[in-house]
Amino acid sequence: MKIVDYRVTPIAFGDPPLRAAFGLHAPYALRTIVEVVSDDGLTGVSETHGGSAVVADLLAVRDLVVGRDPFQLAALEHTLYGSVPQTGNVATPWEGKLHSFPRTFGAIEVACLDLIGKALGRPVCDLLGGRVRDRVPFSAYLFYKHAGAGGEWGFECDPAAHGWAAARQAEALSAEALVEQAQAMVTAFGFKSLKLKGGVLPPEEEVRTVRLLRAAFGPDVPLRIDPNAAWSLETSVRWANELEGLLEYYEDPVAGKENMAALAQRISIPLATNMCCVSFADLPATIRLGSVQIILGDHHFWGGLRASVELARICRTWGLGLSMHSNSHLGISLSAMTHLAAAIPNLTYACDTHYPWQSEEIIVGGKLEFVDGALPVPTGPGLGVELDRTALQHLHEQHLRSGLDYRDDEREMQKIEPGWRYRVPQW
Ligand SMILES: [Mg+2]
Repeated sequence: MKIVDYRVTPIAFGDPPLRAAFGLHAPYALRTIVEVVSDDGLTGVSETHGGSAVVADLLAVRDLVVGRDPFQLAALEHTLYGSVPQTGNVATPWEGKLHSFPRTFGAIEVACLDLIGKALGRPVCDLLGGRVRDRVPFSAYLFYKHAGAGGEWGFECDPAAHGWAAARQAEALSAEALVEQAQAMVTAFGFKSLKLKGGVLPPEEEVRTVRLLRAAFGPDVPLRIDPNAAWSLETSVRWANELEGLLEYYEDPVAGKENMAALAQRISIPLATNMCCVSFADLPATIRLGSVQIILGDHHFWGGLRASVELARICRTWGLGLSMHSNSHLGISLSAMTHLAAAIPNLTYACDTHYPWQSEEIIVGGKLEFVDGALPVPTGPGLGVELDRTALQHLHEQHLRSGLDYRDDEREMQKIEPGWRYRVPQW
């Protein structure tokens, strides 16, 4: 089999005004769709980060992809390595401005695995060693937010919405409002664990939110908070004392491997990261320092699905837990995440996903459905999803109209709060 065509399409889809330490989500989230077409007429697809640098990286390697056998992924990876400039760590808020080899290869690898799976009539998880679970649990990802559902509605609300659609657009800038959001999301999707995106309100209000969530959902629902390094070391220690016994893990309260290691010495809550360890190059120092107990993998920036399986083995070797990180995404990414999680025995935490926050889709049949907080592992060939070409065209035109060329939450925040700055630490 030979790859005879390779297409890279930037898209934008409506995204609610969610808050994080970095600022505010723009009305549209950016992603990129990659397609590889074989000489026998099959097409493999993948979804990755958006932004002009992401697209530039993917287009820059076009001649290295076209003409190759999609099965020969090791050779492709070896050839691509070094062909994309390395200008930084992709797990920053400005990911779409940075160039990245693992992200570029990962996007192409997933599309090739989808193509191979379609050619063989086997699901992608079978190409990773087969499934160890038939359903993959995800967590409710809770955000402080402004009113509105994003997209063309922006900060406006649809008064006819009800259920989760109403909660999705409701303002949530207090502990009480966040608990209401959590109840609506859990009712709609059945999630069995909760993750709070922190680093937005003063720490005392966020810790109060955790306490209210614990009171509302009881002792058996795992809780996490992720302040995205907005807290100083002393702030992280102080509030850890209040959070003791309430959290499954404490995700990136403070910035950097050294600070996380210092925090780990002073508290007993397990620490997790998708900020201070985001590549294989970060692993030796992370392990040596003892910065975290849990790594949140993400095939979009760790270099694809096979690399993520390798990460899982390293985590098992060194006694580290493994969870999964998410950015705003659609169903192609969700399917890839689900196949990956199905194939990794030691991925024992519910995975993150932003998926409930998005209403648009790019796959035939519309949005994938969670059952009791989990996604059944797709059984069809490849990723088990099919690209909806009408939706692809619509979301591409939406990207052109959006005027956005990379994610910049600080810029969006300044539109509603002039002078607001992203600072580490904020508290
Ligand atoms: Mg995180």
